[in-house]
Amino acid sequence: MKQKSTVAIVKCSSYDDQELETAVNKGLALLGGVDKFASPKEKILFKPNILWPTNPDKCVVTHPAVFKAVLSVFKSTGASLFFGDSSGGLQSPESALKKSGHFQAAQPLGAELADFVNGESVSYPAGVTSKRLLIAKGVLDADGVISLPKLKTHILTRMTGAVKNQYGCVPGMGKGQYHAQFPDLHDFSKLLVDICGFVNPRLYIMDAVMGMEGNGPQSGDPRHIGALIFSTDPVALDAVAAGIIDLDPSFIPTSTAGLQAGLGTYKNEDIELLGDPLEQFVIKDYKVVKKPVQSIPETPFLKNLKRLINPAPVIDKKACTRCGRCIDVCPVEPKAVGWKKGSIPKKSVPVYNYRECIRCYCCHEMCPSRAINVKKPFLGRCFPFLSYIALLMSSIFAKRNDKTK
Ligand code: SF4
Ligand code: SF4
Repeated sequence: MKQKSTVAIVKCSSYDDQELETAVNKGLALLGGVDKFASPKEKILFKPNILWPTNPDKCVVTHPAVFKAVLSVFKSTGASLFFGDSSGGLQSPESALKKSGHFQAAQPLGAELADFVNGESVSYPAGVTSKRLLIAKGVLDADGVISLPKLKTHILTRMTGAVKNQYGCVPGMGKGQYHAQFPDLHDFSKLLVDICGFVNPRLYIMDAVMGMEGNGPQSGDPRHIGALIFSTDPVALDAVAAGIIDLDPSFIPTSTAGLQAGLGTYKNEDIELLGDPLEQFVIKDYKVVKKPVQSIPETPFLKNLKRLINPAPVIDKKACTRCGRCIDVCPVEPKAVGWKKGSIPKKSVPVYNYRECIRCYCCHEMCPSRAINVKKPFLGRCFPFLSYIALLMSSIFAKRNDKTK
């Protein structure tokens, strides 16, 4: 009989140190105990989600208190503890981890900062999108990885959680290059699955004490959930988290790609739940887009219209502080967002060149002022009708071609 993936949910209502440590111990005990995941003398790397270092109360990052509680519990194994993440933009991992408070949380526990500045191109024969991946040296040097994702909504992928957390194992602007290389959301999700499959964390512990709802993963609002979620299967963990926010897991492209690639399962019948009952955490009115991600059929007719159909980033001039971060993180060359020609940088609001824009939404993700909205153009709103017309036209042309053969 096929073995089920186990996911443990443990109630944890606050970021109180004692409550967190009790919850972490309880979750690990449900999965077989901490010693199952680390041994003396091993180098174990802890990878929180530091999308952009912000006050943890904003729920952009894995809360440092969760990170600290997990490290404290793992310290008892005698393993050497390391930590790291590569945030978005040009800042150094050390500076980002200091700003987010993770560096300070790790120091008293003797954990060392891993190298997330330098990376190596490594072979990954099982890769669906690529047989070689760029991975941070700190990840390659570790004997094992413990992934600490945060439960957040995502404007593009509906939810971001365990599978996507490993994207921070790609150092620096390598992430931007991947965005440019895989502009299609479904291809990009397959890449995320490849990276997750290569890094292959031994365990995932999700911070769902406070989640982010609405305009995630950077500009949403905090929402209390009150749980830590544990699993060795990132797809199953994300499925359970999706269940909590009342989202169909099949709407998350990394989950469907993950199932396809054999990374894990989001099917209820293949998941065994342990710990506190899921029902007590479900939030029916959690603000998340509850519909599948549209995929544009690759018909010649629609391919050329993609730019006019996909939602476009738009700057709210009143909210923009002219910091220029959106320009820094834009991964395409030439940049698809920049200072207006002839204007003095940081004196006016950036402008988009939509012809160059690949709709990766890195600018939206990284804007610190919630000044970038993602809006569907008129043609995008007509998309279901256009798809129908496109498919109709394709079948008419196909029939015509058959007749002329
Ligand atoms: S849109 Fe956001 S990231 Fe870009 S300059 Fe304005 S505030 Fe900064
Ligand atoms: S402008 Fe924004 S959405 Fe467009 S390519 Fe640059 S970062 Fe991506």
